[in-house]
Amino acid sequence: MDKGFSTTLIHRGEGKTEPAGSLTTPIYETTTFVFENAEAVLRYNQGKSSRYLYSRYENPTIVATEEKLAAIDGADGALAFGSGMAATTNALLTFLSAGDEVVCSAAIYGGTFHLLADFLPKFNIRPRFVSLEELRQPHDIIGERTRMVWFESPINPHLRCVEIRAVAEACRARGVLSVIDNTFASSINQRPLELGIDVSMQSATKYLNGHSDVTGGVLSARRELIEPLAMARRKLGGVMDPQAAYALGRGLKTLPIRVERHNANATAVAQALERHPHVKRIYYPGLPSHPDHDIARRQMRGFGGMVCIDVEGGQDAAFRAFDRLQIVRRAASLGGTESLCSLPILTSQWGHTDEQLEAAGVTKGMMRLSIGLEDPEDLIEDLRQALD
Ligand code: PLP
Repeated sequence: MDKGFSTTLIHRGEGKTEPAGSLTTPIYETTTFVFENAEAVLRYNQGKSSRYLYSRYENPTIVATEEKLAAIDGADGALAFGSGMAATTNALLTFLSAGDEVVCSAAIYGGTFHLLADFLPKFNIRPRFVSLEELRQPHDIIGERTRMVWFESPINPHLRCVEIRAVAEACRARGVLSVIDNTFASSINQRPLELGIDVSMQSATKYLNGHSDVTGGVLSARRELIEPLAMARRKLGGVMDPQAAYALGRGLKTLPIRVERHNANATAVAQALERHPHVKRIYYPGLPSHPDHDIARRQMRGFGGMVCIDVEGGQDAAFRAFDRLQIVRRAASLGGTESLCSLPILTSQWGHTDEQLEAAGVTKGMMRLSIGLEDPEDLIEDLRQALD
């Protein structure tokens, strides 16, 4: 990675498999690959050839994008999936067995929460949800049956942060696997593997692709973990499509400059709205007023493009402000060119009980903003008029 992010993301994997000399890796829109004879198939099966067999296993377009993903995460390997949830499912089913316990932050993306709470118990895998306070003493959250600790930082939607290195060290000391959902920070703002985390997961639907036109997920890890994950992906079948891998690979080329602008725009918005009379509280890890600003400063290179506003007046006031937005679009998801606003109680935390909302630290007056690449003055003006 000594050449810097931009060079790496532009050149990694590109054109390697392309006999015509194409600068970019074409979309290998094929399900299968042709062999000249039985000997060639045998050599593939024995791991002695760099050929491809079947696109659910590997495909040159997907591999080219995976090489970029591994490089920016400082990982031995990365795997691309059809969605963030497919990546999450693959990680859970690869490493957990009946009787195991997975410790998970109660403040977590709603989809992950429901996957753990509603599906895993069917296989006798027990989730145990812990508070942010408990995550601050990571040695105490690991029990006899704990096999994995799963958490996010910054956390959706309020951007509270967890001391990544402390969780990683506690897990390593007890032989437990640590997995982070690094979606909100992206590989540019935070590199969890360097902080000792075993597996990094990201929804590529967000910053990695960056244009709100691809659904995807990524796992990156060191070799001895990426190999079982890759074998499981062949069976579970959640691999990314070559078209999506091409679009993701193209998106990655501009990731560093996009993230730089997301960081700058979000900082400008957070600073401008911090003292607005209808803002009860604004959460942005880059503001000194954020409860975890010191943690964020220690482990993040930039503070990201997400801002969360707790509106004075609760749910009714948040719904009214949401309806009045003109430039910021009312939509779920995040990490793209266009600024988006969502109401967590209607999207990522939809279906949570009041107790679950409280455990997740989510209030009914929260508006979650994904700050895009527009002129920051336009965004500030729009948000001001909506809140006024
Ligand atoms: N993790 C986080 C933090 C998310 O916000 C999301 C989706 O919103 C996911 C995981 C799931 O990703 P996907 O929608 O790509 O399956």
